[in-house]
Amino acid sequence: MNLDRSWRSELRKLLLLLLGSVLVGWVLGFPLASLAVGFGLVSLFWLLQIWRMRRWLEHPDQLPPESSGLWGVIYSTIYRLQRENREARLRLQSTVDYLQESFASMRDGVVILTHRGAIEWSNTAAHRLLQLEYPRDRGQLILNLVRLPEFHDYFLARDFHEPLQVRMKGGRVRHLQMEITPFADGDFLLFVRDITRLQETEQMRRDFVGNVSHELRTPLTVFKGYLDTMLDNRDRIDERFHRPLLQMDLQIRRMESLLHDLLWLSRIESERSQKKTVKVDMVSLLEELQEELSQSHPQRSVALEIACRDAVYGDYQELHSAVSNLVLNAIKYSPDDTVVTVRWANDGDSVTLSVSDRGVGIQEAHIPRLTERFYRVDESRSSQTGGTGLGLAIVKHVAASHGAALDIQSQPGKGSTFSLSFSAF
Ligand code: ADP
Repeated sequence: MNLDRSWRSELRKLLLLLLGSVLVGWVLGFPLASLAVGFGLVSLFWLLQIWRMRRWLEHPDQLPPESSGLWGVIYSTIYRLQRENREARLRLQSTVDYLQESFASMRDGVVILTHRGAIEWSNTAAHRLLQLEYPRDRGQLILNLVRLPEFHDYFLARDFHEPLQVRMKGGRVRHLQMEITPFADGDFLLFVRDITRLQETEQMRRDFVGNVSHELRTPLTVFKGYLDTMLDNRDRIDERFHRPLLQMDLQIRRMESLLHDLLWLSRIESERSQKKTVKVDMVSLLEELQEELSQSHPQRSVALEIACRDAVYGDYQELHSAVSNLVLNAIKYSPDDTVVTVRWANDGDSVTLSVSDRGVGIQEAHIPRLTERFYRVDESRSSQTGGTGLGLAIVKHVAASHGAALDIQSQPGKGSTFSLSFSAF
């Protein structure tokens, strides 16, 4: 029986009872007193049922009291809801357990943080990687337990677009990658991955490239020395060999600049190199570069637009190489009769160096890959211009180590603008 029907039948029974008591009272000559007794009996019955229900609700795991009619239906409805509720809770709990178990067995550290940074839960890998222990550290602020200045800044800045890489000292040096993802109502999921082996392999690759480039320099210097002597004494050499000698000279120059760029890239990439962070006067750097270019490329005009005099904190040589790579590219990939413009301006939040040309431009599809080593849009053109394919890789690296953003805007056939934006002080 459902609640509506039993409610109606209960009302009917109540009405009949009251009518019966009025009738009996009327026969006996006390209709009102009899009605009052009827009411009293009904109230007593209802009070008894409420008391039974209260007693049952105190021990909800027991079976509901036996009852018929409306009260029976109420008991069974509550009992059913309780059972459904318990089952839903168990299902939810088993989903949570399942998720926690899968997180717990992960090789990466997982930490659930509240919006304040208090630890809600962490897995065993987080214990190994960050020495966090669950449940001991529950409720503690992560910044009090993971005392790394880089992580502190990363967490407080609340900009989690890029993962953070940190170097953990103490015993064996370890490299960790930390990534935070906001979820639910402002809580955070912190993933920690041990990337030590990856970093070691990367370091081995850099060392290898650096060493090979270094080793190749000596034989190349010997070749170049002999070749220069032969070219200086060209008139004493058979004319048939002049062309091959000039070709060799060209290729040796290319190889020299390739080795120069490779060595420079491996030097600036090397973590061991002690970076000199000084105040670099960008205006004098640009003026010096303009002067150098007027000698090396007298046929080209490089216009300087100095809209601010802000300095940048960083490494003078690295900044010089990044800017000169951008300007040399602008010169290489634009016609001789066009102007290359270098602009230095402050737009409030950042100070931006932009190099614009009116040259060949770049198709949009190539732009994301330009900073890869040896990536070239047009292989034949690049070999004509004598590029090494490492220029923009150097620019990207210098930008990253100076906290600058590299932006590339280009229109095929119209020209390109490469910008480096540094944060303003
Ligand atoms: P490269 O030594 O070949 O110039 P870079 O790393 O400096 O190597 O540049 C990579 C590629 O990006 C170049 O081969 C060229 O295709 C393209 N590129 C770079 N700068 C410009 C520019 N200002 N205009 C058009 N294309 C450019």
